[in-house]
Amino acid sequence: MTIEKTRAVLAKSELSDEDIVHLLSLQNLDDCRLLQEMAYARTTELMGNYVYYRGLIELSNICTASCRYCGIRRENHDVKRYTMNLDEVVEAAVWAANNGYGSICLQAGERRDEKFIAYVEEALVRIHAATVSPERPEGVGVTLSLGQQTLETYRRWAKAAGCPSQLRYLGRFETSNPQLFKVLHGTRGDHEKELENRFQMLRDLRTAGYQVGTGVMIGIPGQSLEDLCRDIRTFQKFDIDMIGMGPYLLSEGGELQNFGQMAPEPLLQLALNMIAVTRLVLGPINIAAATALQAIKDNGRELGVAYGANVVMPNLSPLQYRTGYQLYDGKPNLKDSPEQCARSLEARIQSIDRQIGWNMSGSSRRWLRRQGRPNEEAPTQKA
Ligand code: SAH
Repeated sequence: MTIEKTRAVLAKSELSDEDIVHLLSLQNLDDCRLLQEMAYARTTELMGNYVYYRGLIELSNICTASCRYCGIRRENHDVKRYTMNLDEVVEAAVWAANNGYGSICLQAGERRDEKFIAYVEEALVRIHAATVSPERPEGVGVTLSLGQQTLETYRRWAKAAGCPSQLRYLGRFETSNPQLFKVLHGTRGDHEKELENRFQMLRDLRTAGYQVGTGVMIGIPGQSLEDLCRDIRTFQKFDIDMIGMGPYLLSEGGELQNFGQMAPEPLLQLALNMIAVTRLVLGPINIAAATALQAIKDNGRELGVAYGANVVMPNLSPLQYRTGYQLYDGKPNLKDSPEQCARSLEARIQSIDRQIGWNMSGSSRRWLRRQGRPNEEAPTQKA
């Protein structure tokens, strides 16, 4: 009787590794509903009723890494490479700020050359200048997702962003299983992607003053439930403020076709279970419902919110660049303008009894507490 066991596990105040693996394994409707309800209730209790938008701007698909699962890896010569110009970047950021987005997320392939570092720096300076106002003294909040850099670069970008209390960085370590990590990442030389370097990145980001985010891919062929449990323990070990994670999806531009991919339904359920269990174990952190969830099922991101996520990242990249930024197959919203994406999403979020935290910073509560500023937390009740 799994339902009895699930109920007993969910009643515990602390989950063992074995409990975590049990919850991750759930696939039948009744068990999954129990897990979902518990994670949703815990999210409401710890984080309030709001879901925060981070407007995603995909700056460039030029990449020096060769992550074998990724459609924009260096070796994929079928992709037309682009880099947004600074005016386009600033325009997208200002649109986000004027439309009530508390923050934006700048993402790109991984580059560490001075030209790229200076480009991001200038973008940040201009975004800050264009969005600062008496009501918004720090300007729009900024999340960076620009791969592994040096501590000095993180500091340079932090300074340029000018928003110390809304400054975030997302760097996934992809999987905590060292053998699997090696199989997934082929780059050699200077840009080699190594698990230990990804961990060092998280420490450096903390030192540089960022709210620190990470995540993994879920359902990678060869990944076990025990691996996912270890991923969650690793989030705990690094006292992570934010998580962005989603299902592993096959990419035509990658080189892992022979690997296959989990069937969509169990994959989606596993990803949702992972979100829920991460919420139960990690508590008051921000968890993003990844766009990859929507690639499997149209309402995938809302399901993510129902299972304990409290952040979504509507795509604000100009339409002409969207097809150039396909990390995996079936990426949604390639043709919808920012207005269309945002409008349909709000109704969907409201349909699961959450509301959008318009113009709110939506910082990780774990981070606010660490800073000694718990009184800046968003209200826990619906307005
Ligand atoms: N280059 C930056 C960020 C861009 S990639 C960095 O290295 O951090 C953002 C994330 O997309 C990756 O961390 C990875 O987890 C995810 N991703 C890439 N290919 C994917 C795939 N085939 N399926 C699911 N997620 C994928």
